[in-house]
Amino acid sequence: MMLNRGYQIPEIYPDPSGRRSSLFFGELLKELKKGSCVLDLGSGGSTFNYDDFPDIRIYSCDVQFRSLAKRPRNVLHVFGSADKLPFIHNSFDLIIANFVFEHFMRPMDALSECERVMKPNGHFYVAIPNSKGIEDRCYRFWKGRYDHIQGYTFHHFLRMVYCHTSFKLQSFCDYPAGFTWFDCLKKYGVLQKMFSFSIKTLKRLDPDILRTCNFLFSFRKEELRGYHFLTHNCMYCGVATTIPWEEELRSWKCDMCGKSNPSL
Ligand SMILES: [Zn+2]
Repeated sequence: MMLNRGYQIPEIYPDPSGRRSSLFFGELLKELKKGSCVLDLGSGGSTFNYDDFPDIRIYSCDVQFRSLAKRPRNVLHVFGSADKLPFIHNSFDLIIANFVFEHFMRPMDALSECERVMKPNGHFYVAIPNSKGIEDRCYRFWKGRYDHIQGYTFHHFLRMVYCHTSFKLQSFCDYPAGFTWFDCLKKYGVLQKMFSFSIKTLKRLDPDILRTCNFLFSFRKEELRGYHFLTHNCMYCGVATTIPWEEELRSWKCDMCGKSNPSL
């Protein structure tokens, strides 16, 4: 018997014809006005086809580039690290960070820098692998741990963004596994058959196993940050509060109801 612990598609998509906020970088690029500025962060050369967008200014930024041979007039390749971007404040209408945050040494600094160089109401596209997903686990096993040096879950990444920036989530999706990096899979062989069999077996236990391997986010820069930090919850009145670590001894007093709570 198949165990269906995942969500039914009709529950997730009650209105398949409904319009949604833009999410994919292709959508976000198309919405830009003529003369807008885009930062292709960690581009390696190019994340998208620059020739398709001659009316926007594109800054392609990385610490190293695969190839710089072809460069349209509206594109500038800039050497720079994500945690110290070589741009002035409020420069960009859109930043694209497509599967790069898992490579960054200092992702929190990179987020702060993205916020700094983003114009108010600018859009921030981010794609990350789910470190708990089977695809990223396979990648780390296959390619070693030195490439994806950061591991994120949905909650971990969203909290980091909301703690360190004023970016607010506009839309997101679970992005399914593609195993595009797994070259052996593309050739017919014993390895592919074994891999397919293993995945199909696991999918019977968890139907979501391939669907939640990556996450795509579209954020927008607003004025204020969105994360609220709480550490304790009163067992008498249920009101949560934040108590500095050094103040927590054997008990703590609730500001709301005045009762003393034991430290847990
Ligand atoms: Zn209380």
